[in-house]
Amino acid sequence: MGDVVLSVAKLSERGAILITHNGVSGPVVLRLSAWGARKLHAMDYRFPLRINWLPTMTEAALRTELRVRRDKQPNKHVVNSPIAPLPVRLWKNLVSNAGISPDIVWTTLSREATNGLIRQLRETELPVHGKSLNKEEFVTCGGVSLREINFKTMESRIRPGLYFAGELLDIDGITGGFNFQAAWTTGWIAGQSMGAPEKR
Ligand SMILES: Cc1cc2nc3c(=O)[nH]c(=O)nc-3n(C[C@H](O)[C@H](O)[C@H](O)COP(=O)(O)OP(=O)(O)OC[C@H]3O[C@@H](n4cnc5c(N)ncnc54)[C@H](O)[C@@H]3O)c2cc1C
Repeated sequence: MGDVVLSVAKLSERGAILITHNGVSGPVVLRLSAWGARKLHAMDYRFPLRINWLPTMTEAALRTELRVRRDKQPNKHVVNSPIAPLPVRLWKNLVSNAGISPDIVWTTLSREATNGLIRQLRETELPVHGKSLNKEEFVTCGGVSLREINFKTMESRIRPGLYFAGELLDIDGITGGFNFQAAWTTGWIAGQSMGAPEKR
């Protein structure tokens, strides 16, 4: 499947999505969670998440696509003719969410149902209520302010002799290795500095 666009209030991210057994995940969800972490926290993790499944198509292009289907395959069931690159199961669910029953063929699809399908394709709304529990979450935000750290040594500028590394710091890496890299790099620097001869 191609990229989708996710939106929450004024936040928006585009990328690959993963539909899991208990919700949505994947790079676009993790990025939205990371960049929007403070705003999502302020909303107490309760908000509607909107998904545009076909962001490369404008609403007009989508209407044309549906009209072409009605003209070229009038007697084909709507539920059996997904728009590429949407997977068949996702299409079936979107058609069902739009209130279109499985026996509807393109030629009998009403104007209201067409509008409903376009709404589903462009702005499916999923309610988000709460976040995953400690140790299950992928995104962690916040920590010791970087202004308070000497990056040459990872020593606190406020409390000499105290060193910080990794997740404790206010660093948000893009998922895929950057948080590990930040933890290893800052850990190595802190270790080297603590063990430096002048510290012994
Ligand atoms: C589900 C999940 C998936 C992730 N995927 C990725 C990914 O794909 N790529 C990526 O880059 N990052 C990923 N991360 C983030 C990455 O795991 C962390 O950024 C990294 O592990 C931070 O390392 P750390 O050593 O700073 O902290 P941690 O790995 O959290 O280590 C802290 C350690 O301190 C111990 N500890 C806590 N309190 C005390 C105490 N009072 N006394 C003694 N010990 C204590 C804890 O038990 C723990 O072992 C993921 C995180 C999660 C949760």
